[in-house]
Amino acid sequence: MARRIYRCQIQEIKRLEEGLVILRFRPQVAFNFEPGQFTSLEVPGLTSDQETVWRAYSFALPYELSREHGYELCIKQLKGGRAGTYLDTLKVGDWIRIRAAYGDFTFHSGNDRGVCFIGTGTGVAPLRSMALSRQFQKADLSFGLSILGYRVLAEVPYIGDFERMGITTIYSLSREKLALEYPFAHGRVTDVLKQMRGDFPWSNTDFYICGNPEMIREVVQFLLQKGVPAAQIMSEAFESSSSATGVKAA
Ligand SMILES: Cc1cc2nc3c(=O)[nH]c(=O)nc-3n(C[C@H](O)[C@H](O)[C@H](O)COP(=O)(O)OP(=O)(O)OC[C@H]3O[C@@H](n4cnc5c(N)ncnc54)[C@H](O)[C@@H]3O)c2cc1C
Repeated sequence: MARRIYRCQIQEIKRLEEGLVILRFRPQVAFNFEPGQFTSLEVPGLTSDQETVWRAYSFALPYELSREHGYELCIKQLKGGRAGTYLDTLKVGDWIRIRAAYGDFTFHSGNDRGVCFIGTGTGVAPLRSMALSRQFQKADLSFGLSILGYRVLAEVPYIGDFERMGITTIYSLSREKLALEYPFAHGRVTDVLKQMRGDFPWSNTDFYICGNPEMIREVVQFLLQKGVPAAQIMSEAFESSSSATGVKAA
């Protein structure tokens, strides 16, 4: 289903290491969304033979903080990618167009259960939106844990944000050559999961997983083997866009 289109003015563009871009903007008309949802960014053709395409990006802040500080996206620029190339042309003050809001990867835990966020790369974005949300603060949870996977330390965009919300956080780095100490660990998110203590309450925990599809498949398989009911496993795969909308759950 097509969503409303919003014109938005760019407030801030932070270009971090490893091609990470934090984009903040203000829509002309504020709109609400659920923590975990995503938007679709219009990527105009940059040459006369290129058509406009749309690309999906998850909100990295919840609505209440977006209203205050600007709506935020955390984007990994892919060399040669349409959105990746478009981002290089943007500067503060420019106008962009987005469609919003999409998706059913939203936070709904409580009832004294545990919550475990698992994300790789920019898959941290919707998890951060959930973790910083009012819904999360008000939820009756027995514990919060996040396991965030990157290749190297320089790729980690939001150190400290999950911790400030009382969430124990482990950063697993698959290709970091430096010696690492807790909360950093060598390996992949699945390696961290495999090392959880013997009495970890697998079946009393809700898992929110976001990132590349292969990681999600691997983690889901592991969790099912551990006896986690499928209804407690929520996931969002950041697949490359194959359609003109770039929106999976439109
Ligand atoms: C629900 C959802 C939420 C998402 N949220 C996020 C998010 O929060 N952050 C995020 O970073 N991503 C997110 N994504 C992924 C995002 O939508 C895009 O798929 C991604 O940014 C790539 O878009 P692009 O237009 O830059 O690349 P595309 O143009 O789609 O290209 C895809 C690939 O092909 C390669 N390629 C394309 N053209 C060329 C060329 N001419 N020569 C060589 N190689 C080429 C690119 O390098 C790239 O690897 C999300 C996806 C989904 C489905």
